[in-house]
Amino acid sequence: MWALVKAVAGPGLELREVPLPEIGINDVLVRVRKTGICGTDLHIEAWDPWAARTIKPPLVVGHEFVGEIVEVGSNVADFHPADLVSGEGHVVCGRCRHCLAGRRHLCANTIGLGVGRDGAFAEYVAIPMTNVWHHWPGIDEEVAAIFDPFGNAVHTALAFPVLGEDVLVSGAGPIGLMATAVARHAAARYVVVSEPNAFRRELASKMGATKVVDPRSRDLGDVQRELGMVEGFDVALEMSGSQAALRSAIANMAHGGGVAILGIPTEQISLDMNEIVFKMLTLRGIYGREMYETWYKMTVMLQSGLDIRAVITHRFPFREHEAAFAAARSGESGKVIMDWTT
Ligand code: NAD
Ligand code: ZN
Repeated sequence: MWALVKAVAGPGLELREVPLPEIGINDVLVRVRKTGICGTDLHIEAWDPWAARTIKPPLVVGHEFVGEIVEVGSNVADFHPADLVSGEGHVVCGRCRHCLAGRRHLCANTIGLGVGRDGAFAEYVAIPMTNVWHHWPGIDEEVAAIFDPFGNAVHTALAFPVLGEDVLVSGAGPIGLMATAVARHAAARYVVVSEPNAFRRELASKMGATKVVDPRSRDLGDVQRELGMVEGFDVALEMSGSQAALRSAIANMAHGGGVAILGIPTEQISLDMNEIVFKMLTLRGIYGREMYETWYKMTVMLQSGLDIRAVITHRFPFREHEAAFAAARSGESGKVIMDWTT
């Protein structure tokens, strides 16, 4: 099969023919139809310090996908060939305290698909049956391909109650964009999106932002006054990984507010703890998605009118992977999809 492989330690990815993945008795084999490019894939392609520390080549990369089951292991009874599925990208141990208690998203021994084991940028991918999400009828196939990052957006956006609340989204990358639409769907009053990139600010407006702001030229205090807000944001979704963004969010929070932090900073961040203490803020780190409560919520929100399709801006056949990665890296993009069937 064709697969996009990190063949050796160093920058780049190689499209090469590799053997079909073998499945164990608890696994399913999926014929991949469409995949989404994640920031993680860009880090692995570029071979930054995180990738150099983490990735052991050769490795098939990628973890956002939709496909059709073609084979199931002998222990697998709940899934069948022809089922349209996506994979939860975190393979958990099943044995630690949290896994045993059903809190699998808190597993301390998580292995990432396309990071710690062969991934989905390939014609076929093998995953454990416990990582399969069987799509409900009527889910758009391109949206199904990005359920993994959509799940990051939903998990973060719903980390604190947003009904009737004023929400700040810092960073309108693909995940911030989807979180914007989710917060609106979940009936937030105002959703203010702060993002320096003009292309992405425009996308944020399309996704339902009440107001989009360039943090380099607008102060969030001004924006609050313009909207008639008096006490600050009730909920902030940190989706940029930027120190400046997190500080500005904290400075603009209402007392008792919640800051859900998904963005992964590349350096240590120092914060004014006085502000956190005296405003009585809750800061909560978010990693991955809840298995499978987030997946359930994603599905029912799509069924009840949430539309995130505008986040998908580029589509490429897998052989044009270099152009696809360039589009994802450019910043002039939302989500970039690669098709593995053409
Ligand atoms: P992305 O890099 O495409 O988007 C980040 C956005 O933040 C960019 O558009 C950038 O212009 C913007 N930004 C930079 N500085 C800013 C500032 N000062 N204020 C406001 N915005 C600013 O990333 P993405 O794919 O949308 O993911 C969002 C973040 O979440 C990234 O940091 C990513 O690494 C992280 N992530 C975390 C998890 C998790 O499980 N915790 C999973 C996936 C991604
Ligand atoms: Zn575990």
